[in-house]
Amino acid sequence: MKVYSDIIALQEYISLMKSEGKTIGFVPTMGALHYGHISLVSSAMSQCDITIVSIFVNPTQFNNADDLLKYPRTLEADVELLSTINCDAVFAPSVEEMYPKNRDSIQLDLGNLANLMEGQFRPGHFDGVVDVVSRLFEIVKPTKAFFGLKDFQQVSVITFMTKKLNLPIEIIACPTLREDSGLAMSSRNMRLSELGKKDALHIYRSLSLAKELASNFSPTEVKEKVITYFKEGSLELEYLEIVNPTTLESLNSEWINGATACIVAYCGDVRLIDNLKLID
Ligand code: AMP
Repeated sequence: MKVYSDIIALQEYISLMKSEGKTIGFVPTMGALHYGHISLVSSAMSQCDITIVSIFVNPTQFNNADDLLKYPRTLEADVELLSTINCDAVFAPSVEEMYPKNRDSIQLDLGNLANLMEGQFRPGHFDGVVDVVSRLFEIVKPTKAFFGLKDFQQVSVITFMTKKLNLPIEIIACPTLREDSGLAMSSRNMRLSELGKKDALHIYRSLSLAKELASNFSPTEVKEKVITYFKEGSLELEYLEIVNPTTLESLNSEWINGATACIVAYCGDVRLIDNLKLID
């Protein structure tokens, strides 16, 4: 497996692969890889000739300096894991390589997508995501790019961005991988104690309760009941919303297909995000 930190060398490799007619699958990550990430890599490997994974903890998408500082970094182990599954190449640039001085950062009006949920609680987060993913797309020019539905709103933002910029890239949304306990796999789980991991299960229990209640109550009623239930646990709720999967606007009285419950909660100082589709 090839490991690149420099853009020119990576692009030489990609040009060579493209000249041989190969399709490029791309999986952007911030590293500290787990099997959720690996499921994206496996999808890319099964759908494309060449799979490239980027590992870059993007400072511009963190609105909290402490969160950025504490974000787990395990590059050596990540590279080892990817090479054991025969991934083709890793791109692990430095901040300077990704963001040279005097570069122009992309400005895109994300409308409501940037104001709701994550946008409300992490101001500027999606500007950072658009900034890094558009730059990575420009560098890699993949055929298909793979994103996890665990970051539900991010998938909407990336899909919107790709359409808006007319990029010839197919965005593939992949399902959330969970531990047997139901806890969504996340790099941030590394920061949880054993007790924290048990406490964090309350997130999935609450989402499952929402799904159960959806057949008998309106979205507003389900939201109220689940918030009451959630507060019986020890996590601190940041938000719980039941949303239209396309507009991400909250549902009130009517259910629609694809209605999804999205939740963010703190376990100590670890911010955890999850969601579950309530109506198929
Ligand atoms: P991250 O490294 O957290 O930025 O995640 C990189 C990609 O992996 C994103 O598209 C995430 O949505 C996806 N991802 C993270 N956790 C999971 C999971 N448990 N299952 C599936 N995909 C995931």
